[in-house]
Amino acid sequence: MTGEKRGLTRLRNIGIVAHINAGKTTLTERFLYRAGKQRFMGEVDEGTATMDFMPEEQERGISISAAMANFDWRGFHLNLIDTPGHVDFTAEVERSLRVLDGVIVVLDGVAGVESQTEILWQQVRMHGVPALVFINKLDRGTSDFEASLISLTERLGCAALPLVLPHKVDGEVVGLIDLVEGVSIGEQAGDPEFWQPSRQAVIEACADYDDSIMSDFVEGVAVEPSRLHRALRRATLAGPVVPVLAGSALLNRGVDWLLTAVCRYLPSPVDRPVVDVERVTIPVDESAPFCGLVFKLQFEGEADTEECLYFVRVYSGTLRVSESVQGSRRDAPVRVESIWRVHAAHREEIEEVSAGDVAAIRADADLVTGETLFASGRDVSLEPVSFPTPVLSTRVEAINAADVGVIAAAARRLCREDPTLVLGEDEETGAVLVSGMGELHLSVFGERLAVAVGREIRLNPPKVLMHETLERTVTASGECWRHLEGEQLSARIDLRAEPRPGLGPAVVGDVEVGDAALAKMLRRLLRIQLRAGLSGPTPAHDLVVSVTGAQGDLRGPRGEAVCGEALAIACRKLAGAAGSVLLEPYVDCSVACPAETLSWALADLRSRGARIAQVESGEGRATIRGELRLSAVLGYTTELRSLTHGLGSVQLRPVGMRSVQGAG
Ligand code: GDP
Repeated sequence: MTGEKRGLTRLRNIGIVAHINAGKTTLTERFLYRAGKQRFMGEVDEGTATMDFMPEEQERGISISAAMANFDWRGFHLNLIDTPGHVDFTAEVERSLRVLDGVIVVLDGVAGVESQTEILWQQVRMHGVPALVFINKLDRGTSDFEASLISLTERLGCAALPLVLPHKVDGEVVGLIDLVEGVSIGEQAGDPEFWQPSRQAVIEACADYDDSIMSDFVEGVAVEPSRLHRALRRATLAGPVVPVLAGSALLNRGVDWLLTAVCRYLPSPVDRPVVDVERVTIPVDESAPFCGLVFKLQFEGEADTEECLYFVRVYSGTLRVSESVQGSRRDAPVRVESIWRVHAAHREEIEEVSAGDVAAIRADADLVTGETLFASGRDVSLEPVSFPTPVLSTRVEAINAADVGVIAAAARRLCREDPTLVLGEDEETGAVLVSGMGELHLSVFGERLAVAVGREIRLNPPKVLMHETLERTVTASGECWRHLEGEQLSARIDLRAEPRPGLGPAVVGDVEVGDAALAKMLRRLLRIQLRAGLSGPTPAHDLVVSVTGAQGDLRGPRGEAVCGEALAIACRKLAGAAGSVLLEPYVDCSVACPAETLSWALADLRSRGARIAQVESGEGRATIRGELRLSAVLGYTTELRSLTHGLGSVQLRPVGMRSVQGAG
């Protein structure tokens, strides 16, 4: 593929998202096998899945980091990103959705829509990414296609349109009927009378997107499948219609069909141009000036020889090896040292990457996730990728005091890769503090850290991380005088902070200084300060903080040092002036347990202060849904297991921050 120009309309940048265990990794392995990219079918259960190449993934049988693969399918080229299903790794999903053009949502056909499917669906919709659904595991006798469809409509509120109908005999799926082509796939055809009404529903849905289909439909004239495909593509790209396919990844049923549906109905890069922060559309054109977004970092090699791969989605133009480009977070140019097409743990060096495509690069600068790269002489900034706030924090205990430096360096690198891991330092002991999205997230961090430093690492039990917001809009100024290297320097920074309930982590608003380089530096410093906290170790939340003025000796590294101090002082004053409000994270919990253990599980949840929203029981199983403080569910999984003879399970979903006074 090196240097080869592909037809943009035949390119698909696709993600797969699913609740854990729905079969996403198995499906991806089948894609690679069917597309001839690998000769064997990797199995999650045997730890041989190509896409779960990290040791932690093979051990736990789950996907942690988004892996990339690329392959050809019937004249199309697909870049595929496999994403983790666990709620703690939601940042991987977020950054992938940001650069993808289309997504496959995989459902477990036994369970239907699950709690993580709901979260993922919200993310998919927020990014406006067109989607297909694949109802998996239809080989299992307990699978229920109809119930899964209903769960799509009722729990996700999506206009699910089945393009397939399973043909069941004695409760077992023996074939799949293709409602667009009107043919049956599998051993037994099934009676057309049984599937004709469902086919009519597909034609009717297409009629809304094509007048000629509408008139043929009204007059009872047959509509050729090729016209239905075109209308379905239009309907899917427009957003409301979500085509539903089905099959069994494990048994390789419906997989080819799903791949063809991806090429037929999901968008190409041409269908999804982006706009920059000024709302100017970036042309999807290989010969236009280059513009791309860094969406993922991956370190490789040992600590002293480590190198970082930056994954870039190219929106416009062509990026070539040895070229220098600009970065939205820096003043100095960035030189592209090499470009790679990545396929799971393998990669191939290429000379260039063009508009619409995704590749990894090596560069001579430390780029960050969400940074825009662009051709010199053209200042473009794409919307940065936004990440949720870390909610749990832990201290890394070094067994040997001499290891602290090595641990800090390795932790820094892991935190650069994952923007939802935030690094800190214990002021008294100098120990590494790290905050993340949940217990699993931090425990995987601990394991990766131990591997990186080659020594045993102990993580303290995690603590809930409080956040801070302000009650009303406030302005404050910070002034600082410093004697540095024989020179007297001073800086004054004026800030305005506005509360924005529901926003999430605090963001930098306007930076009203004339000089672009200075504005960039102030943005960077303020972003760091907001993450660290306005007045203490509690990240700022639900706030937009703007710089309304900056004066003094602000340029160069020494200017940056005084500026940083003036900013910190201004932030502390903001908190003092308005009276800060302490916030703590809450979660929605969904507990499933045997019916006979329901009363124990319920009493236990109540004792933790949960507000119970729903209790259901039937067929020997019970489910409880409720909301409670995150601090009340630390270590809950172990407790629940002992209450339910090991048969209970819990799904936790963050529902935001509430003020500490209001809690209870
Ligand atoms: P992921 O967590 O969504 O990536 O799911 P995996 O691909 O790891 O699969 C989870 C479990 O479901 C594994 O034990 C798979 O073998 C199994 N599985 C996946 N697809 C199917 C399927 O189509 N039918 C059945 N019966 N099991 C499946």
